[in-house]
Formats: sequence, structure tokens, C-alpha cells
Amino acid sequence: MEKERRITEVPRIGKAAAEDLSSLGIRTLSDMILFRPRAYDDRRDERTVRMASVSDPTISCRIVILSHSEFPTKKGLTLKVTAEDDDGTRLEILCFNRGYLKAQLAIGTEWYIFGKVQRIRGRFQTSSFEIKRTKEEAGIGRILPVYTLTGNLTEKMMRAAAYYSLMALSPIPDELPQRLYEEYSLLHHDEAYKAIHFPDTLEEAGKALRTLAFTELLMMEIMVLRESIKPAEKKKSTIFPIERKLLEALPFRLTPDQEKSAEEIREDMDSGIPMNRLLQGDVGSGKTLVAWLSALHAIAQGGQVAFMAPTELLARQHADGAAALLASLGIRIAFITGSVKGESRRLLLKSLKDGSTDLVIGTHALFSEDVEFRNLRFVIIDEQHRFGVQQREALMKKGRGASILSMSATPIPRSLALTLYAAYSVSTLHTMPSGRRPITTYLVREDRREEMYKAVGVEFSRGHQAYFVYPRIDDDGESELRDVTTMYEVLKKEYPDTPSALLHSKLPDDEKMRILHDFKDRKLAYLVSTSVVEVGIDIPDATCMVIEHAERFGLAALHQLRGRVGRSSLPSYCFLVYGKNLTDEAKARLKVMKETTDGFRIAEKDLEIRGPGDITGDKQSGFLRLKFASLTSDLDIVEKARNEAERIIKDDRGLLKAENAVLRNNLPLYRKESELPQKKEEPKPKVVKAQKKKEKTEQGFLEF
Ligand code: ADP
Ligand code: MG
Repeated sequence: MEKERRITEVPRIGKAAAEDLSSLGIRTLSDMILFRPRAYDDRRDERTVRMASVSDPTISCRIVILSHSEFPTKKGLTLKVTAEDDDGTRLEILCFNRGYLKAQLAIGTEWYIFGKVQRIRGRFQTSSFEIKRTKEEAGIGRILPVYTLTGNLTEKMMRAAAYYSLMALSPIPDELPQRLYEEYSLLHHDEAYKAIHFPDTLEEAGKALRTLAFTELLMMEIMVLRESIKPAEKKKSTIFPIERKLLEALPFRLTPDQEKSAEEIREDMDSGIPMNRLLQGDVGSGKTLVAWLSALHAIAQGGQVAFMAPTELLARQHADGAAALLASLGIRIAFITGSVKGESRRLLLKSLKDGSTDLVIGTHALFSEDVEFRNLRFVIIDEQHRFGVQQREALMKKGRGASILSMSATPIPRSLALTLYAAYSVSTLHTMPSGRRPITTYLVREDRREEMYKAVGVEFSRGHQAYFVYPRIDDDGESELRDVTTMYEVLKKEYPDTPSALLHSKLPDDEKMRILHDFKDRKLAYLVSTSVVEVGIDIPDATCMVIEHAERFGLAALHQLRGRVGRSSLPSYCFLVYGKNLTDEAKARLKVMKETTDGFRIAEKDLEIRGPGDITGDKQSGFLRLKFASLTSDLDIVEKARNEAERIIKDDRGLLKAENAVLRNNLPLYRKESELPQKKEEPKPKVVKAQKKKEKTEQGFLEF
């Protein structure tokens, strides 16, 4: 497709409209063609007034105007037009603020109406309608695209722009080798682009979407594969003495996966090309250490390092950890969050700017406007999935040219990993540090919690510690859920003379810190907490994790929470307490938790149970830019595209064969532009025949 014809070429798209379009990412005719309708408006069938029902209130039919009347409302006069359709059913058309319609809708004239009808006291009324002179103008008999709008754009303008663009750029050449069209029963691209905007049937729209999604995914997979299967030329990287020193100071050896990941990172850093790598590994697999080693490498090369954590709590923990491990090696460490202010902030900023800080640890405050670095070479993002798009953009700006290591403890199924992280190289920590005992998980029915309390009590008597997690902070009266405030009192009675603390997000940060320190120093035997403890907290002597209302938590959250225990060689236990009316899904989730502690298995099961819904969500799609494919709901297409890409690359890596020329030529069009602002994932196109908007039910993630 030609890339450069401006959208302003479309008749009646002026400067203002062009600006609105631009904020939707549409600047050229081809952008417009690639702008996927958010839904379709099916006006194919004539629907007379009496066919309107609560479940489908739409009408699209011919009417004749019978009479006018006006009646006063708060805002002035409202015009009421009475009309009749071909069945002879009366319809009242309420024209709020549209008094001018009186002249147009002259008595006795014929119109085509499309709208939504309500039945009020036996009378059919509409106030949401389009009314047109001809059937064609009203779109009756057709399926119309519905686009996301912004500013003063209207659907009419969008449709006109899409139509114009399609005509102007037609015929759009094929983008795939011929054999694939048949093999995967795809539409040819010219047809597909037309049908995604103006389909004759909804089936056709579906086929068009499959075609365009498959094409995108195939292109992306080809890119990924071409980049990942690099010709085997083993680079030798350097380990600097300071890294050796850290390794020698550790009371344990690196796991083979840690070694391998650290080596991969060193190779990248020595290559001189900025790295963009994902380090994924289950909770407790030892990602942080790999990060510190890599940080030392970057510092030894003369750079500065920024380590960003999603919460202040976690940032502090990492700062403490870094101080313990790295300060003695002469690394100059600083800590910054939004709450560092005044003189100390000024000094800190100065030390970053003049290079007298080597390693700065903090929250996203690291990337506020006023923070400047002398030579930022390496950015580490802990729990990267917790950061939003904007935060990442700020980071991309500051860290331009720096290497980025994103760490994630949310394992994703293999089939998705490479695709989701197409813009990343990936290192994985599969194995856990040795000496860890597996965590035993018990499913506890609510009315059996006494036994569990006893078991936890035994752990206390051994000097071990526990977490009790509840979904709510306090009881606001409206729910039966146990909350931390109430349970804190209950548990005090259960375990008299056992020091404990209440922990939740409404506490001031220094209070939270103090509690965690006390817990770590074993001054406290247990914490009663909301899921704030979900994120990376490391307390080796904590051996019990009790999660109440476990059925309300998603698998990923349960897995994360459970990962807070089992962090030493002590045997650990997780108690998942569940209530009565469990849904099948909740049962399945709990069963998975009982069966395995392997995060990768759990992620796969999650996929099975929930279907490829929004497990990974928009936040994780990294820097991919897909217009038609959804990585999560088009899983079957993802798999097909991947297999096909493997076949093609195996057979013709350079895409040099004649049949693959079309791929080679089109590939650049599909390159992700990693620094473009990301648009939010759009809802799947759905037919808006009726107005039954399904309430979005939130998966049982309760985060505070
Ligand atoms: P996560 O991958 O969840 O971020 P951490 O980096 O917090 O995990 O590591 C969890 C714990 O394991 C820490 O206490 C860390 O010191 C310890 N650890 C890391 N690597 C090893 C190892 N190779 N052998 C033993 N313990 C390790
Ligand atoms: Mg961690």
C-alpha cells in the first residue's frame, strides 16, 4: 500500500478533522484503511416499528410523516413528529433541540429511519435515530462500520474517509504468497481491506479480520524468527573483577539459569547495541541477583544504572538489598521516590547529573522531568507488567540509547512468550535456587479453619512466621468478605502473646516499612495483610501463607502470593481458604494451585480455564503494534502464524525465493514502531444490533 497520501486529501476533511484523525493515529489514507472498526451496525434487514423489542430495540424502515406537535420541556420546546411505517404502526419521533427538523419532515413526506425505539405506555417512541431521504443514505440494507471517534468526528465522516481511502488505494496488492490464501482460506488483501470496513455479511467481516490478523502475526513471527535465529557466532564477553567479587561474597552459587542469563546480558552489553531484554522467572527464582550482576557490568563499563520498582515498598527493599550487597564493593547507591523532597532531593538529583551516583533505585519517580543522568547506560525494570504505558514512555525518553532489562514474575505460556515479547530478547530462569523445599498447598473449607489455625500455631512455636491475606481493608458493611481489620482482632485472640501487625495500602509508607522491617527482624510472628504483600517481598523465615476467600483471586495473584513463602530451606505451607458457592472456574483454579507450584504450568492452566481472555492484558503487549490481531483472543491464529513462519524461515531464511518476494517487500510495513504512543486495545468488533451492553465483570483480582 502506498504510505504517503495524506488524509486531508479526502473531500470535506479539513484541518480540524485532520487533527482529530491524527489523534487516532490516522494521518494517511493507508492509516485510515488500517483503522479497524470497533463494531458493525447491521442494517440489512428491514425492521418495522412493531418488530422492536426490549432485547433488540432497533428499527430500520420506511416511514411517512403524519403530524407535528410541540410540547414544552425544561430546555424549551421539543418537537414531536408522528409517523407511520409500512405496517401502519405509529411512531413518535422526539426531536430534542432539533426544532429545525419541522420544516424538513413535512407532513406527507417519505423517509427512511434507523434508530432505537422504546415502548412507553403502549406508544412507540424514538429519540435516538437517523433519518434520511433514501434507503441508501440511511444505510438500510447494509452493514455499516462503527469507528472509535474523538473530538468532532462523526461516523459519517469516518465512513466517508474509509470509503474514499479504499477507492483511492484500490487495488491493494496481495501481501502474502499465493499458496497461503488457499491453505488458510483467506481473502485476498484488496477484498479483505474492503470487507473489514464495508462487509456484505458479518461472516465476510470475520474472514477479513482473520486474514488481516493472520497477516500481521505471520509478518511479526517472521521478523521475530529472523532476528532470533542468529548465525552461530559465539561472542566472548568479559566478566569484570567487581562482578567476580560479588559472586565470591555470596553464600551460594548461581543457578545454571542465572549464570546463563547473566552471560546473555553481558554479551548484549558488550555488543555495543542497546539491549532490550526480558528476564522472566518465577517468583523466587533469583532475578534480582542477575540484575545486580548486570548492573555491576554496566557500571564497570562507566555507565550509570537505574533500577525501577513498581511500589515504594519494593523499591526500598531493593535499595536495602543493594546496599548490603554492593555498597562494600564501592558502588555509590541512591534511592529516589516521589516522597524524597527538598534539599535531599536536590542533592540527589545533582549526584545523578554529575555522575557521583552509580546506581539509583526507586519508583517511577526516577523518570520525572527533573531527573537527569550523566550517563545512563542501563535501566532495570522490576515487575515490569505493573507499569503502565505512560510510565514506560517516560522511561524510553530518559533511557534513550540505554539498555533495558525488564523483569517479570508472571510467566506466560510458551506459545505466547515470543510473540508477546517480539521486541525483546528473552532470558528465562526455569530452575529455582537449590535447597528450596516445595510448598505444600492445602485447600481449606471455610468451616474447617480451626485446624488450619492450629497448624499455623505449630509453626509459630518453631519460630516461623506467617502471612494472613484477606481481600478487604475493612468491613464497609456491604459484604460478607473477611477484612484485615476485623481478622486482625480475631487472630489476636487465636494467638495470644504472639506479636503481629496489620498491613495494608492505607498505612503511611514509613509505617509499612517499619512493619516489614520488624517482620524481617522477626519481631513480628505474622502479618495480617491485603494483597499489598503480593509484590516481591522476601522474608526467608515466613513459612505459612494463608489466603482467605481464595476463590476471589485470579491464578496469577494466587501464585504470586504463594511465592512469598518457600523462600528458604524450611518446609512451607500455603492454605487456600474457600467459601461455599464456588463457581466451576474457581474450583478449577484452586485445583491447579493444589497440583502445581510451577508458574509456567499455572499460566498455561490459566489460559485453559479462562480461555485466551485477557490473561496478559494490554499492559503486557510490550511495544507491539497490532491493528487487527489480538494476541490473547486470536490464539489459534497466533499458533498457525507461528508454525507457518517457522516453515517459511526454515525453508528460506533470507526470503529470497520468488514466491516469498511479496513477504520480503511487505515486511517493512509491519515493523513495529516501538516509540509510538500505544493505543488502548480496542474492544473486539461486535454487532451493535441491540443495545445490550454486557456488564464487564472483573476477574476476581482484588488489589489495593
Ligand atoms: P525473584 O526472582 O522473585 O525476584 P529474588 O531475586 O527476590 O527472586 O530471590 C529470592 C531469594 O533467593 C533471595 O533471597 C535471594 O537472595 C535468593 N537467591 C537468589 N539466587 C540464589 C541462588 N543461586 N541460590 C540460593 N539463593 C538464591
Ligand atoms: Mg523480584
